[in-house]
Amino acid sequence: MCPPSKQMVFRFAPSPNGLLHLGHAASALRNFEAAQRCGGRFLLRIEDIDGERCRPAFEAAILQDLAWLGLSWEQPVRRQSQHLHDYRAALDALGQRGLTYCCFCSRAEIAAKAHGRDPDNAPLYPRTCAAMSQAERRARLENGERAAVRLDMAKACAAIPEKLHWLEYYGGAFATPILADPLAWGDVLIARKDIATSYHLAVTVDDALQGVTDVVRGADLFHATSVHRLLQALLDLPAPNYHHHALLLDGGGRKLSKSLASKSLQALRAEGMTPADVRALVCGLPA
Ligand code: GLU
Repeated sequence: MCPPSKQMVFRFAPSPNGLLHLGHAASALRNFEAAQRCGGRFLLRIEDIDGERCRPAFEAAILQDLAWLGLSWEQPVRRQSQHLHDYRAALDALGQRGLTYCCFCSRAEIAAKAHGRDPDNAPLYPRTCAAMSQAERRARLENGERAAVRLDMAKACAAIPEKLHWLEYYGGAFATPILADPLAWGDVLIARKDIATSYHLAVTVDDALQGVTDVVRGADLFHATSVHRLLQALLDLPAPNYHHHALLLDGGGRKLSKSLASKSLQALRAEGMTPADVRALVCGLPA
């Protein structure tokens, strides 16, 4: 993960919708230490697009926890809420190519009609709104109904005829190409009803905007990378390398106990845990 010629850019991208736990600490430390090892840059990105769940107090706690762990990051802190216009431009670009459609369905309607599940085990969208006439769509929007935006996955994949891969690092210099499988996600949401973006779109646009070369994040986001690779290809954005690390392992490679994993760093600190204890607890860092 350390080519001599290129400055590597890493990022830790928490959502300020709760307190950080040991799993977050593991991810942040891996990114920070990888950047230090490579003489690279380390960015902190606050993923605060969800206005209902994100709170300034959680953001303040994130900064405090990371500083307590001994991390420092490039200024300014990046914030997704400052890039809504970039996400909008990407959304419009996909829309202009006819790769998206409006979706009025509620969660309950989707669950009732869905066949199959996506890699996150959520119901696959049954494409109810894909065939809606323009007249009906316009009427519903004019009526004040709010719509989400979905990627027409079959069309989007057809627009990129070559197979998409990403380079996955498993530690050290060992990397292997992974075949992306965006179809497994069905017609993913790329803009929510309440904000003109989604996790997938925002994270893809941001990583490109911020020149991120190496995405180091938990294994729970491994499959989401298929969608990110597709969006990168559609929007002509560079593809970073990826390392999806195991979620919560202690220094001996064992899963952390639930009680330990569910405690916030703040609570562990109050109980007397030191930054050195945290480093020793979360699993060994990748080379
Ligand atoms: N904000 C996401 C989270 O807190 C991480 C996004 C990413 O690393 O791609 O789970």
